[in-house]
Amino acid sequence: MLIAYRTSVANSLLAALPYKDHQLLLAHLEPIELTFGEEIYVPGEPIRHVYFPTDSLVSLLTQVDGHQALEVGMVGHEGMLGIPLALGISNSPVRALVHGAGMALRMTSAHFNYEFQHSVGLRHEIFRYIYDQMSQLTQTAVCNRFHHVEARLASRLLMTRDHVRANQFHLTQDLLGDMLGVRRVGITKAANDLRLRKLIDYNRGDISILDDEGLEAAACPCYQTVKDMRKATQTPLANRS
Ligand SMILES: [Zn+2]
Repeated sequence: MLIAYRTSVANSLLAALPYKDHQLLLAHLEPIELTFGEEIYVPGEPIRHVYFPTDSLVSLLTQVDGHQALEVGMVGHEGMLGIPLALGISNSPVRALVHGAGMALRMTSAHFNYEFQHSVGLRHEIFRYIYDQMSQLTQTAVCNRFHHVEARLASRLLMTRDHVRANQFHLTQDLLGDMLGVRRVGITKAANDLRLRKLIDYNRGDISILDDEGLEAAACPCYQTVKDMRKATQTPLANRS
């Protein structure tokens, strides 16, 4: 199935490509629906496809002692899953778990490797995105060490809102626990605190942000820092060609 240009620009990384480079990729992309809780990558296993989410959201998780997980990245419409391929690595170092159901465009690893070698525009965008992810990872390390769980939860909810472009989304307590690296009881308390302050509503995993400004004030500074870093690196080649 041939993907239309207007479908693929829902992913900002693809949208930023020069038109010619973008057109060449379209022939190799196929739409795929990602369902909540679906595992895209397993640590240590080969990456068979790269994914460009359009309205889905995927968490990158590391595991400690075989069970306790921690989110080290979040990939939505702004990015791509399968970055290790661009660095010459064919296996995933992390677990990639869908936490926002929706659509993505995917391409086989073989096609991606070919296009990555031949498209200057794609390389430029991927390198910029790798820098974005490194920045996000650095901030996550600081955040996990120094910021209080309630403020971290507020930050993650705002990041999720921005990624899915909606004020309502579904996140289970288990997944929130994995995202923040805390136990379920800690998540319950933090979510309750935000609910009592009338910043969010939370019912069986269905989250509604009720007060954007209030939640931003409750969030740790990492939310704004990551947003600013991302904005600073967005220099689409598409606008220059
Ligand atoms: Zn933080």
